[in-house]
Amino acid sequence: KRGTFIEFRQGMLNMSPIGRNCSREERNDFEKFDLANGIRQTMVEKMRKEFADYGLSFSIGGQVSFDVFPTGWDKTYCLRYLPEADFDVGGAFWCPSTKIFDATKYEYDLFVIGGGSGGLAAAKQAADLGVKVAVADFVKPSPAGTTWGLGGTCVNVGCIPKKLMHISSLYRETQVDAHGMGWETKSSHSWSSMVTQVDNYIKSLNWGAKTDLRSKAVKYYNAFATFKDPHTISLDNGKGKVEEVTAKNILIACGGRPAYGDYPGVKECCISSDDIFWQKKAPGKTLVVGASYIALECAGFISALGFDVTVMVRSILLRGFDQDISNMIGTYMERHGVGFAREMVPSKFEKTADGKVKVFVKDAEYGVFDTVLMAIGRTGCAGQLNLEAAGLSYNAKSGKVDVNDNDQTSVPHIYAIGDVIEGKPELTPVAIQAGKLLCRRLFGGATKKMDYTDVATTVFTPIEYGCVGYSEEDAKKALGQDKIKVYHCTAQPLEWNLNSERKEDMGYMKLIVDKEAKEKVVGIHVLGPNAGEIIQGLAVAIRCGVTKEHFDDCVGIHPTYAESYTTMTEEKKEGCALPTKGGC
Ligand code: FAD
Ligand code: NDP
Repeated sequence: KRGTFIEFRQGMLNMSPIGRNCSREERNDFEKFDLANGIRQTMVEKMRKEFADYGLSFSIGGQVSFDVFPTGWDKTYCLRYLPEADFDVGGAFWCPSTKIFDATKYEYDLFVIGGGSGGLAAAKQAADLGVKVAVADFVKPSPAGTTWGLGGTCVNVGCIPKKLMHISSLYRETQVDAHGMGWETKSSHSWSSMVTQVDNYIKSLNWGAKTDLRSKAVKYYNAFATFKDPHTISLDNGKGKVEEVTAKNILIACGGRPAYGDYPGVKECCISSDDIFWQKKAPGKTLVVGASYIALECAGFISALGFDVTVMVRSILLRGFDQDISNMIGTYMERHGVGFAREMVPSKFEKTADGKVKVFVKDAEYGVFDTVLMAIGRTGCAGQLNLEAAGLSYNAKSGKVDVNDNDQTSVPHIYAIGDVIEGKPELTPVAIQAGKLLCRRLFGGATKKMDYTDVATTVFTPIEYGCVGYSEEDAKKALGQDKIKVYHCTAQPLEWNLNSERKEDMGYMKLIVDKEAKEKVVGIHVLGPNAGEIIQGLAVAIRCGVTKEHFDDCVGIHPTYAESYTTMTEEKKEGCALPTKGGC
């Protein structure tokens, strides 16, 4: 009769066909089958009752309190058959003669500090693997007083509102393109209506995040977490309630917050990305300080929505990105109305009597703005965790912690992922992937580690820029100038040809290859509409080891913008101007 053999190994409950041990592959199939059909849940509910009969606690994945076993671990225990089960559950579970669980003296197997992209993904993965897990998430208001709900930066003050507002701004440009194709209507835009609708959507995501946790039996604390000792977390809900919990493993996933710099008056006068997406009042004449992702994305959508925007650039645009393309973004944005104040930093800020902001450069008045948005980078929140109590240190300048390739800090049971770790990309999918993989290793017997190489990203500027692999500058540094070849071309989306205002607008693509490895592609760059969508597919190709020949052999899709990748022949020559149309 088909049934279940329950095996405790490394703290995991595995299920396999009754009566014999099974191979890893079989076990994986079995678990997948269970999950896909929802059968596992049914079994688990039945089994939970069964375990209770024995006075044992049981949760999905088979966490059993150690100390309830009367005679130690070197025993084989039998469960009764469950004749009423939808799926025949029965058989035996055994424990190896070595002790594999610590006595469960901690309240949680895993405590996660931070309910953002990484923390929530990790907590849910851990719960799916049957461990007892809790998450603390607490948002301290920004200096301008903005606060938000569960879900972290991405959902509340990052990717989601940013992308929605970026799309909203693209509709304005699309309307202009549409005129070239017979459309004559012109509609107006309401900032406050956009913010209201975006924020209502975010609130629904906050709610979804909470219900998700509840359905997976993850305990959620809306409280600020600090370490009391290496296994004890103090939780302050900000309303006078402070409690302590203990956990066997702790995951730091507390992310980061915008940096403001130490310019006099900055916190009183300026806002950051923590505020702009929640501000019902239209930004008006805006100065954006900073010149990377956040600065250029925000400047892009604010400008395209009709406001006067200047970007104050300390040095270069988009440090770390391919500089040919970064400069093209600057040119495009400038042509579409964004002002750039180059090689400049503010020296102080003052509020005017009518609530505007007076900006000074080298202590001389530079201008008066309705809004000044500081986008000069982010600082990790590790400094607020009282890490000393856990025997951990952090980098005071970046607010981040160091981890090894196992996401482990210098205290073995304390892990960290996401924006709070030193030297890794600050991106939502990175935090999510790291969190899931970590929990699969900790509680699922898996071994796969987070691979931070070839992580694709997209800058959602008015002309989008997607890339994966090396920039041209980094490829030269890593492989040597003589070892790389750069293919490139300019391209125009078809519809732009019908818009006379688009005459000078141009997209661009670049493939960087390793000459000595059969032209293996080591960098892909795309500047143009929907670059994020395009680069997502190409990111998979680069993971598969794509070569230039693969691109050449691939038959393109016509008429698309991305088909130019399959017909790219021009090699970029050192010192040569970028191609107009058709190559250099
Ligand atoms: P977070 O999501 O920041 O979550 C950390 C959570 O922990 C927060 O809710 C915080 O309040 C909470 N917390 C902090 N300390 C404590 C404590 N002591 N106790 C309890 N809770 C605490 N990434 C992309 O991939 N694509 C994009 O398009 C993109 N756009 C972005 C746009 C902007 C404007 C910004 C700011 C970021 C953007 N990012 C984007 C980056 C992305 O949002 C982050 O990389 C991601 O959110 C990091 O996830 P995390 O889990 O590490 O931290
Ligand atoms: P970055 O750290 O990438 O860039 C900071 C910018 O501010 C740089 O242009 C820097 O100039 C400038 N700067 C730093 N200090 C000062 C100062 N004191 N005065 C004036 N300018 C200064 O930060 P971001 O805030 O743009 O982004 C943070 C992270 O968020 C990114 O790394 C990214 O991973 C993530 N993100 C991702 C997005 C996406 O995926 N689309 C979108 C937005 C954010 P300099 O070059 O001279 O140092």
